Amino acid sequence: MSDSDIQTLDLARARERMVQVQIARRGIRDSRVLDAMRCVPREAFVDPGFEEFAYEDGPLPIGEGQTISQPYIVALMIEAAELRPSDRVLEIGAGSGYAAAVMGQIANRVYAIERYPSLGEAARRRFSSLGYDNIELRVDDGTLGWPEAAPFDAILVAAGGPNVPPRLKQQLAVGGRLVIPVGSKEREQKLLKITRRSETEFEQEDLGEVMFVPLVGQQGWAEDGRRAASNHVPGRSRGRTLPEMIAGAAEPLPDFLDPAFGQLFDRFAARRVVLLGEATHGTAEFYRARAAITRHLLSDHGFTLLAVEADWPDAAAIDRYVRHRPARMGGEPPFQRFPTWMWRNTEVAALIDWMRAHNERITDVAHRAGFYGLDLYNMSGSIRAVLDYLDEIDPQAAKVARERYGCLTPWQKDPSTYGRAVLTAGYNKCEQAVIAQCRDLLLRQLDYAAEDAEDFLDAAQNARLVASAERYYRVMYYGGPESWNLRDTHMFDTLTHLLEAHGPQSKAIVWAHNSHIGDARYTDMGVVREELNIGQLCRQRFGDDAALIGFGTHTGTVAAATDWDGDMEVKRVRPSRRDSYERLCHDAGVARFLLDLDRDEALRRRLLEPKLERFIGVIYRPDTELMSHYSDASLSQQFNAYIWFDETTAITPLGPEHHRPGMPETYPLGL
Ligand code: SAH
Repeated sequence: MSDSDIQTLDLARARERMVQVQIARRGIRDSRVLDAMRCVPREAFVDPGFEEFAYEDGPLPIGEGQTISQPYIVALMIEAAELRPSDRVLEIGAGSGYAAAVMGQIANRVYAIERYPSLGEAARRRFSSLGYDNIELRVDDGTLGWPEAAPFDAILVAAGGPNVPPRLKQQLAVGGRLVIPVGSKEREQKLLKITRRSETEFEQEDLGEVMFVPLVGQQGWAEDGRRAASNHVPGRSRGRTLPEMIAGAAEPLPDFLDPAFGQLFDRFAARRVVLLGEATHGTAEFYRARAAITRHLLSDHGFTLLAVEADWPDAAAIDRYVRHRPARMGGEPPFQRFPTWMWRNTEVAALIDWMRAHNERITDVAHRAGFYGLDLYNMSGSIRAVLDYLDEIDPQAAKVARERYGCLTPWQKDPSTYGRAVLTAGYNKCEQAVIAQCRDLLLRQLDYAAEDAEDFLDAAQNARLVASAERYYRVMYYGGPESWNLRDTHMFDTLTHLLEAHGPQSKAIVWAHNSHIGDARYTDMGVVREELNIGQLCRQRFGDDAALIGFGTHTGTVAAATDWDGDMEVKRVRPSRRDSYERLCHDAGVARFLLDLDRDEALRRRLLEPKLERFIGVIYRPDTELMSHYSDASLSQQFNAYIWFDETTAITPLGPEHHRPGMPETYPLGL
């Protein structure tokens, strides 16, 4: 295949994905609309060079300060207009011509008006090269309609005016539908649907808040933004720009080792759970900041649980070290799975050393700070841990457990193939076996925990993990939100088990990626993909007793791989996009700061509006950054506070050269 064949194929795939994810999943049901959007090559309607972004979930610039509408909005408006194959349609604000082309697929004839000659001509060229011969375009002021071609079965207006132009209502056929954004502010409108019931009767429906470019014309806004008819000046919200407001609210961060760093977070000290995010899985500043906050909360505010996005059995080895408990014999050293650098790095090693020293000073063992893993990927490590535990405490039960877990043996090395095998090759599911094992172990709590409560807690959690992981790897095969939701629910359940096991006074700090910590209901995860996460579940369970703290950066370097299971590389982080939250923070001009979103109501309101936010995980692909790493979110609903480092550096992985002399033998990350 040639490069251009591959590109065509990729674009077709992206188009199908757009229809599935952005359109159908958000509730557009009209099959005519979905089919039409499957046909129109949106890449032909964006400016040259922007083709790769054509299927993004947002508007894109098309010149003259105008935009091609977000695909979902196009679909929403056309569905609301109830287009039928015999319809005559008028569109005001043709712009790129994309919406007109989609309507051209469905309706009999489309009349389109655009006020900018350059845009109108470009759209006309697109229609003729793509063969849309049922679309006619004129360059004119569309607020007056197209009287010679009236009446229309449907009129769509793709720009927002201060009110509904009377001429357009007059040009509707009886039974006809007018869909138009209307609002007294220039970029804040309500989408209205007006149906003409008779010569004189119109019915109006409100379809919700939208944001369109202004409708400029005799029956719209004047060129200078005034209301054309009444000379009304639309209220601009006070003088300050958003970056200025951020700069005003930003609290500069002290040095990481300065006690003042941690003290800045005293405001969260009374919460039951403080969740600390990260915008990447490989940025030193995020680790150091979280370590500084964690040290302060552990030493001064009665927190005793640090629960991180790491595998339970691996974290358990660290926990034994920091709490001065004897190491388990045998087994491989912790954190050998991809991505090793997430926990095997100098920043984490420093915190572990600190926790061990901190715990040494605490004589009441129950008050020592523990290190726990919330994640479920190391299924084989957990199986081994349960068997080791039972071998010691109840050899008879160990025999039964060995048999049950034997069901999973063929998949232990590569559990991701388990789902397919169960589905296609008719292998037995191991579900019953792992659930029975978990139940048995929990039923013996009284006997077993009498020996050593800590060891029991660890074994019980491993048994739960195997049961969750069995399901996780099975549903992972189907794709969709279930596997993500199962994983985050498991992480949340693990956190609540920890809190319960340590009593009503216990308080936890969580470290996980922003995508797990920021309330999913206010990001594309929840809005588009039906995904939930730990942050959301914590808010639902603990309300204001949970603090969700996000992290962000503009540019710098990051430790990440190019592909799953690939090597760690130090990559340059591209400067943040112009239309992102990150760029607003960068433009604030403060190098590192805490933004307390709950303390500044005006700022909180301004940061409600969804904008792009960057998510870099263990993989970073700068070449396709927009597609691969940006997603819409409402920052002030996603987080209670946001921590900013304008320029950041990659973490330092632990290698042989980091073996420090004098490091104790037991050191779990040692080599
Ligand atoms: N449907 C278009 C959206 C373009 S944005 C697309 O999918 O690409 C809205 C367009 O309305 C802009 O191109 C703007 O120039 C145009 N516009 C604004 N006021 C107008 C008016 N009074 N008459 C015609 N076009 C207008």
